[in-house]
Order: sequence, then structure tokens, then C-alpha cells
Amino acid sequence: MDTPVYLDYAATAPLRPEARGALLEALDGGWGNPSSVHRWGRESRALLDDARARLARLIGAAPGEIVFTRAGTEADNLAILGRARTVPGAPVACSAVEHKAVLAAVHAAEAPVRILPVDADGVVRLDGLDAVLAEGPAVLSVMWANNETGVVQPVGEIAERCAAAGVAFHSDAVQALGRIPVRADRVPAALLAFSAHKLGGPKGIGALFVRRGTRLAPLVHGGGQERGLRPGTEDVAGALAFAAAAEAAEAERETSMLRLGILRDRLEAGLRERVPELRVHGAGAERLPNVSSLAVPGADPEMLLAALDLEGIAASSGSACSSGAVEPSHVLLAMGLPAEVAGPSVRFSLGWGTTDAEVERVLDVFPRVVERVRL
Ligand code: PLP
Repeated sequence: MDTPVYLDYAATAPLRPEARGALLEALDGGWGNPSSVHRWGRESRALLDDARARLARLIGAAPGEIVFTRAGTEADNLAILGRARTVPGAPVACSAVEHKAVLAAVHAAEAPVRILPVDADGVVRLDGLDAVLAEGPAVLSVMWANNETGVVQPVGEIAERCAAAGVAFHSDAVQALGRIPVRADRVPAALLAFSAHKLGGPKGIGALFVRRGTRLAPLVHGGGQERGLRPGTEDVAGALAFAAAAEAAEAERETSMLRLGILRDRLEAGLRERVPELRVHGAGAERLPNVSSLAVPGADPEMLLAALDLEGIAASSGSACSSGAVEPSHVLLAMGLPAEVAGPSVRFSLGWGTTDAEVERVLDVFPRVVERVRL
């Protein structure tokens, strides 16, 4: 069989060598408890502070505004539920295309829920924003870029309007960091969620940017770590590996994304030439350069992924976090697509290891695979 082709970077990315190096080094050198006063503790504290400062610098924040969490899901939950608890009874708002980490947290908030609709490309509609803001929600959450379609949201404008209305704006920037500029000094968001494993760091470590002055209640109770917002002995090695991965991603971001954008466009053009009925989700919107989500009308969605896998090609149907579910994606349904178009969809997501030859191989294999899985 040919060498396997991994085109599922939006689900998770391989560990970058820089992150691996930092992880191994810190597992040996930073094993002390950062809260301990002795030298082992102080050494670990210094390493943790270093990781925090480096991440903060990358997004234009102050080190004290970074709270390390157990990955992206927890960062989103802390943002949504932590805000909801500070303003009991106030509504909680988010877009219809959020990741489940936000949507499920919003529905768990025991508060009135307001959902912002999206247009046919999956871009949040701003016509209803003022009415939602007038209700004084505890938090309004719109993701920076969508994990299924790659569609980039107008977070700058939404953040400005939230700030003007005195509403805390949260953005899930898990897919955006390392791919497009994410700067807390340019976008007045109150809260931003990040996850290391999407950009080549280890799984199980993430961060929440909490702008100074944003009131937030912790969800986990214990010691005072992470300013009391995320108690528990800190994952020093994970934090350092996260910082190393984020720095590596940022350092190569412009050249890498330019290259991947060209590859992604070639993939889409080539696939549509070979299978003319394919349709690119979010084609009319600004998208992350590395993501392509396509409707494959008439195909059996699960068979499609299985057939690609048999050919050694790893892709995903919509969100990997919910793969295994037979339901069409809530993101595609929110874009107004009928279930028979939303259902048979496939997402290719490219990354730093993706080559021209891999794209050629997908172009070669895909028409055959589609033929095989037609209903
Ligand atoms: N938010 C988005 C947009 C994601 O794509 C994901 C992962 O799929 C998450 C949140 C959850 O992050 P984690 O897997 O680190 O919990």
C-alpha cells in the first residue's frame, strides 16, 4: 500500500519536534510542584512562568491574562459557565455553528439561551446582534474560525460591538491560532480559548485568555493555582510544550499558510474537475487556508470515510469530536443545507507535513472512491 496520507490536522496534529523536545526536557527538569517554596518548586515555577509569558507574547496579552486549562473544551466551558455564574439569570449567547465545547456549555448554563444564526456560507449574521446585546448577556461567544468548514468569523467587529455594549465577548480560537493572526491587543475580546494539540502540541493542555478586569467564576474548586480560576497542580511540561508548538506554528505561519492555501485550492479545483457535483462548503466566505469541506451528493457518508481510510487517506466528516455520530453536522444544517447535502460531506485539513504528492494522490483516488460509495 502507498504511504498513508494524513489530512485531518483540524482533528489533531502530529507532535512538532519542538514540542516533543520541550516536553521531554521539562518532564525531567520541571517535575517539582510549582507551588513548593524549595528549589525544585522554584525551578518549575520559573518554567511555568516562561511558558505563560511566551504564549502571552504570541497573542499580544499580558502573562497574567493566560490561564492554563485542561485543553480547549475546558477553556470554552470556563469562559461560558464561568461568566454565566457571575451574572446569574442573564442570557448566554453564541452562534449556531460553535463547536460542541461551546454549544453544550451554553445549554448547560441554566440561563436563557440566544443563538445567532449564520448565512449560507456559515458566517454569523450581525443583523440580530444589537437585539441580543440589548438583553445584556453574561457572555456572547462566536468562534474565530470554524473547525468543520474553516470559515473565519468577523470577530473584530463583533468584539468591538460587544465591548461598546459592555458585554463580555468570548471567542473559541482553537482552530485559528497558528493559522491566521490571533491578537488580543487588536481584537477587544474578553476571553479567548486555545488548545495545544491542534497546532502540534500535546493533547490535554489548553489556555484561556482572560482580559484583565473580566469577572469569571472558577468551575473547579481547590487550591489557588492559575489565580484560583483553574486550581490543581499545573502541567508544567504540557505548558512548555504548548508554548514551543505555538511559537513554531507562528514562526512559519505566513509561509506555511501560503503554501497550504495553494495546495488546498489545487485540491478543491482538481476534485471538482473530476467529480463535478462536489460543492465546497463556505466557498463564498473567508476561510482558513488549510481546510476544505465538501458535500459529496449521493454518497454514503460513513462508507466514504471508510473507503478513503482503506486507501490510506485520513479525512473526517465534519467535526472529528462527534465522528461516529450519524447525524448530519449541526454546522452544515445551520447554513441551511438540506440533510441530504449536509450528510455526505468530507473534510480535508492540511498541515505542515502535507506535500504536493499527497494532494495528487487524493485527486487520483477520490473519483474511484466516490463511485464505490454511491447510494
Ligand atoms: N473548539 C474547537 C473549534 C475545536 O475544533 C476543538 C477540537 O476539536 C475544541 C474546541 C476542543 O478542544 P480540545 O480537543 O482541546 O478539548
